[in-house]
Amino acid sequence: MQNKYPVDKYSDHSASLARLQELNSRFAMTNGRPPRAYVQTFGCQMSEEEGEKILGVLLDSGMVETDSQNMADVIIYNTCCVRENAEQKVYGHLGVLKGLKRQNPNLIIGIMGCMTQQPVVVEEIKRSYRHVDIISGTGNINRLPDMLCEVIDKGNRVVELSGTECTSEGTPKAPRNNTKARVTIMYGCNNFCSYCIVPYVRGRERSRSVEDIMEEVKNLAASGVKEITLLGQNVNSYGSERGLPGGQAFAELLHMVCRVPGLKRVRFMTSHPKDLSDHIIEAVATEPLMCNQIHLPLQSGSTEILRQMNRKYTADQYMELLTRIRNRIPDVTISTDLITGFPGETEEQHRESMEFIEKCGFDMAYIFIYSRRTGTPAAKREDLVPEDVVHRRFEQLQQIITDSSYRSSKAQEGTVLQVMHEGPSQSNPNMMTGRTEGNKIVLYKYDKCVPGDILNVKIDTAKTWYLEGTVITED
Ligand code: SAH
Ligand code: SF4
Repeated sequence: MQNKYPVDKYSDHSASLARLQELNSRFAMTNGRPPRAYVQTFGCQMSEEEGEKILGVLLDSGMVETDSQNMADVIIYNTCCVRENAEQKVYGHLGVLKGLKRQNPNLIIGIMGCMTQQPVVVEEIKRSYRHVDIISGTGNINRLPDMLCEVIDKGNRVVELSGTECTSEGTPKAPRNNTKARVTIMYGCNNFCSYCIVPYVRGRERSRSVEDIMEEVKNLAASGVKEITLLGQNVNSYGSERGLPGGQAFAELLHMVCRVPGLKRVRFMTSHPKDLSDHIIEAVATEPLMCNQIHLPLQSGSTEILRQMNRKYTADQYMELLTRIRNRIPDVTISTDLITGFPGETEEQHRESMEFIEKCGFDMAYIFIYSRRTGTPAAKREDLVPEDVVHRRFEQLQQIITDSSYRSSKAQEGTVLQVMHEGPSQSNPNMMTGRTEGNKIVLYKYDKCVPGDILNVKIDTAKTWYLEGTVITED
């Protein structure tokens, strides 16, 4: 299957990469050390993967990573605009950088990611944050060497919104984790949920070719990665812009990824309920490497609110899908996303939603307060739910999810689960930690294994957000 969209290759930028490498080695000779790069990501799993690519390019140019922005020579903020509070956080951080730039005028500050795909944001940064040198979007990571050379060689400020009609390949990555990796399989979204800014800032769906994805997955497995998460805004429609029937191309891709030697686990996110086909359910049910876990954003349990959100399914259709999944994969873990306080959401619709969410019995959920995003259809609505009401509804939803998550953990007490070992727990260094297929954290005492090993762990105690157990055997 060939790419339908133009592909921007990292190797096409080799001339500016070579120039940046030269500038960085000159810096190292003058300063007795290479330039230090600091990359901070605000946002979803896809942004996290883009952050790894930004750092990968900077390291490839001869920089070293620092975890302190006070020590950095290059600071890149990789931003998110899905909700307003993520944007406010970035503006707050940018304000602080003004002082750093005053102390070190050679400091290069860049802002990338989906926030800077909005023209109004670009204007605001250009006007009010003059210490920012590079303003660039989501699809320009391969062009980072070109942009840095422009700043260093010419002293120019670079402003480049990225086109949203191509895909990029070959970008080096600096992963945060050596055993688990994320692989983006498609960019953009075609769904236009009425509250969501993603289709506007990330453009229409563009799928990477099977060949490019498989090459990346094989290289990751050969480098020791054991778990792959395939990423996209709606992975079920992978390949559909090339006219492939719904869900089939993605299911075929899952089968291929599961055959890559060295891998132990495969996951994917996110699935849109209107598109999760039986092909995909069947792939999860039958492929031993597929984790029995599906993230299936519901958003609301009120059919009328779902209609206003332009989600294209009813609560009943969602329940029918959930039943189909659970019948075919009995031990499946289901997580979801919920939005509370959508404009006009009445008390009755909220109650209806709560009852439905209770019935779904989710293992886990991310709950978001509706955030008004300029340019989306919902942003035009003036019937906003008062803030105090939204907060009360948020807490009610949180209680339902805390209870159902605890029930789901409690049901695992006494069972033996397969856990992929990660290493010492950050909160309790006497304990080791790993994750179940359902992505729940398990704590145990065991030191005869390395990250990526699969352990059989008997679950002794269930807490709401994690489990405690005893290692029985290694797989
Ligand atoms: N493509 C994925 C998720 C994209 S964004 C999907 O459709 O499931 C991740 C989550 O952010 C969404 O599922 C939604 O719950 C939330 N979200 C998106 N826009 C939002 C907004 N304007 N306000 C609050 N939450 C929002
Ligand atoms: Fe946004 Fe809807 Fe697309 Fe998800 S499916 S990214 S919520 S428009």
